[in-house]
Amino acid sequence: MRDHLGRQIDYMRISITDRCNLRCRYCMPEGVKCVPMEEILTLEECAEIAAWAASLGVSKIKVTGGEPLVRLGCCDFIRMLKDIKGIEKVTITTNGILLERYLEELIAAGVDGINISLDTLDPKLYRALTGGGDLEAVLRVLEKTVKIRGDRQIPVKINAVSLDLKDMAGQLGCRYDGPGWQELLELAVKYPIDVRFIEVMPIGYGRQYRSVDHDKLLAWLMERYPDMKEDRRIHGNGPAVYYQIPGFQGSIGLISALHGKFCSDCNRVRLTSQGYLKSCLCYEDGVDLRKILRGRGSLKEKEARLLEAMTQAIWGKPTAHCFEDPEHMTEHENMVRIGG
Ligand code: SAM
Ligand code: SF4
Repeated sequence: MRDHLGRQIDYMRISITDRCNLRCRYCMPEGVKCVPMEEILTLEECAEIAAWAASLGVSKIKVTGGEPLVRLGCCDFIRMLKDIKGIEKVTITTNGILLERYLEELIAAGVDGINISLDTLDPKLYRALTGGGDLEAVLRVLEKTVKIRGDRQIPVKINAVSLDLKDMAGQLGCRYDGPGWQELLELAVKYPIDVRFIEVMPIGYGRQYRSVDHDKLLAWLMERYPDMKEDRRIHGNGPAVYYQIPGFQGSIGLISALHGKFCSDCNRVRLTSQGYLKSCLCYEDGVDLRKILRGRGSLKEKEARLLEAMTQAIWGKPTAHCFEDPEHMTEHENMVRIGG
């Protein structure tokens, strides 16, 4: 359906857990409490909401978290989503740590794409930044996933948060002499995958870190690769602007929430793991669908309330975020609860 500004909302991110096996500094550092399991939607409840969303015109879903692969039944959930009439694409975003274990199951479930979050290729900095993550495991499964051939081939993207890695390494007390962007870019030389950089948004712990300014990153890219061209092919569901560089197998994407405000083309809503349907990352606007699902009333009454609430949330989607002016933000949850 369209919102009050005529934006077509056809993409929903569903966070299936607020748990994670990593502790990324800007998302869920040590000490963040998880909500009791009974407050988290069951996967059946998530699927029910997805089906209603499909009836309103959502056709693409991203499964996220926390870390979605720590939730038992994640692959079955993907299969459930794929069976919903009107759902065309189901993709997942993961930190990759458990991906090797679940890769086959995900493919069998019909996943349409895998995004792997990876902010640095320096093993020590990766460990410090993620609170103990094993970079080797992620790189191993990346290679394995990319090398899958034939019908089973799955589009893979790398998502890197645009942190100032030298500054971050200094804060974490670890040595880092790497060049930062360059090493991540080279993944798109080595493999036919898109590497996307995401400006750090001032959500939760993200507020403590300054983002690399993507205008500067773009200028750096253009100077270094003068033959770089904008790549206007459609790469996915999101707001990334892509560039092709001669000699690269994949494209480079910039998701510039701060320096390239893309709200007028926003196509998404988010379902948090606690069942809150959010219409914009920046504000707490939305509706508590868990309350309706688990509340009183006959099935028919609940379905009608659910549909009305979802319609209202989508229709009233805020015009634009205000990340450039965080005082006016009303969202105070951590990213791990929202799902990115
Ligand atoms: N655990 C999974 C993962 O890391 O891909 C899924 C959940 S995670 C919250 C989804 C994405 O949000 C990740 O790519 C993560 O790097 C990104 N993210 C977390 N906090 C952020 C922030 N403040 N600004 C921009 N991106 C952020
Ligand atoms: Fe976990 Fe993903 Fe957040 Fe890192 S970014 S703490 S992997 S949910």
